[in-house]
Amino acid sequence: MPEYHKIVIIGAGQGGLGISYYLTKFNLPHIVVDKGDIANSWKEKRWDSFCLVTPNWTLNFPEYPYKGINPNGFMKRDEFVEYITKWAKSFNVPIRKNINIKSVKIQNSKFLLETNSKDFLSDVVVIATSTHQLPKIPNISKKIPNSIKSMHVESYKNPLALDKGEVLVVGSGQSGCQVVEDLHSAGIKVHLCVGKSGRLPRSYRGKDCITWQKEMKLLDRTPDMLENPSLRFAGDPHLTGRDGGKTLSLHKFHRNGVNLYGRLIDVSNNHFIFDNNLISDIHYADNYAKEFRKKIDDYINFSKLNVPSSSHEDFDGEATKDNKVIEIKGSLDFINNKIKTIIWATGFVYDFSWIKCPITDEMGYPKTNQGATNIKGLYFNGLNWMTKRKSGILYGFDEDSINVAKQIKNYLENVINSNNMNAGDHKCM
Ligand SMILES: Cc1cc2nc3c(=O)[nH]c(=O)nc-3n(C[C@H](O)[C@H](O)[C@H](O)COP(=O)(O)OP(=O)(O)OC[C@H]3O[C@@H](n4cnc5c(N)ncnc54)[C@H](O)[C@@H]3O)c2cc1C
Repeated sequence: MPEYHKIVIIGAGQGGLGISYYLTKFNLPHIVVDKGDIANSWKEKRWDSFCLVTPNWTLNFPEYPYKGINPNGFMKRDEFVEYITKWAKSFNVPIRKNINIKSVKIQNSKFLLETNSKDFLSDVVVIATSTHQLPKIPNISKKIPNSIKSMHVESYKNPLALDKGEVLVVGSGQSGCQVVEDLHSAGIKVHLCVGKSGRLPRSYRGKDCITWQKEMKLLDRTPDMLENPSLRFAGDPHLTGRDGGKTLSLHKFHRNGVNLYGRLIDVSNNHFIFDNNLISDIHYADNYAKEFRKKIDDYINFSKLNVPSSSHEDFDGEATKDNKVIEIKGSLDFINNKIKTIIWATGFVYDFSWIKCPITDEMGYPKTNQGATNIKGLYFNGLNWMTKRKSGILYGFDEDSINVAKQIKNYLENVINSNNMNAGDHKCM
């Protein structure tokens, strides 16, 4: 017999915990189920030297805002895991660990959640399993010979855990560039396949780029303001919170001896073969940074802000004269160069096919109105761009959490408890 709970929240990251926090305030009994533990993704899927890229002031957790001495600093992985775990324990989160939800479907007017152990029945389900669910690895990975260890960035831990030798990192988004830095600073020779990704100057005219984003209301943008819905899943720009925060740039990598190439398109005769996109994608990152700085300049002028003018440090990610001669190499001999590891920093994909209800859009992404789906009793939280740009990051989950929790409270009071409607009153597969 499945175990009944009025409300089941799937996922114990900030999205699921935020709902649990507010349901606890509303005295609404529930459980939070995770395939691992509290903050599972942060613990298991980030490397050892990982640092948040968003400053400490963005940790505005309810009744638990960051109160340390360094609001403009950046927490390391383990510090952040401790922070979020302490917060969850402060309201006695009813966590059920190591339970993997395999499917959610409707059965006899309730939601049936099939798991790797005991199944659950509930009136309300909140799905907070994030947008970044599964590693995305391109097909070309099948051509990598067995002599080279191949791993997705979510499995990378530290340079010492790798076989001795040189490393190819495929993908130059935020994670790829951060891992390149981790390897390079440990003295490992790194080769990087560059793709299209922006770059943000860590700070500009006296303020951190995330502080500017907040002040310019860029984090409050709503999905309808995007030119194209696929931009909800765009990768994050080159940037790091490591060592107090700094700009990461392809130019700096090049100056420091990281070898840059275009996209990996083939593997043949002991060679990696690359596309010719390197220069255009370096220009793309440069233009992204330039446009961001211009946006800030315009904002400063418009708002007549009294802030410092730009300084030399504001441009430390830029090209120098030497960078004009980045050598374009179409291939790399992986035997002679002793490449022993390839790290796929090629992003993540989502998969909501385990929810057996018609709740996704043409891109397979959940369609919600402020977190509520068209299936009564089925909600989401923590998704990228669910209501705003900040929905999928630490700074934004609180606003969505209280909103979704209030909707659940209303639903239980007005619909379920008055027996007007049950979850089963919907058509599901
Ligand atoms: C590499 C990387 C770096 C990031 N850095 C930052 C940053 O610096 N600052 C910032 O604000 N944001 C950052 N983010 C974005 C965002 O904050 C995280 O993705 C965040 O973890 C999303 O929170 P969440 O609660 O929605 O999902 P998660 O924290 O991923 O939590 C989802 C939980 O659901 C569980 N789960 C998933 N499927 C199931 C299932 N079927 N059954 C049971 N449990 C399940 C998982 O174990 C996990 O614990 C980063 C994201 C990535 C990928």
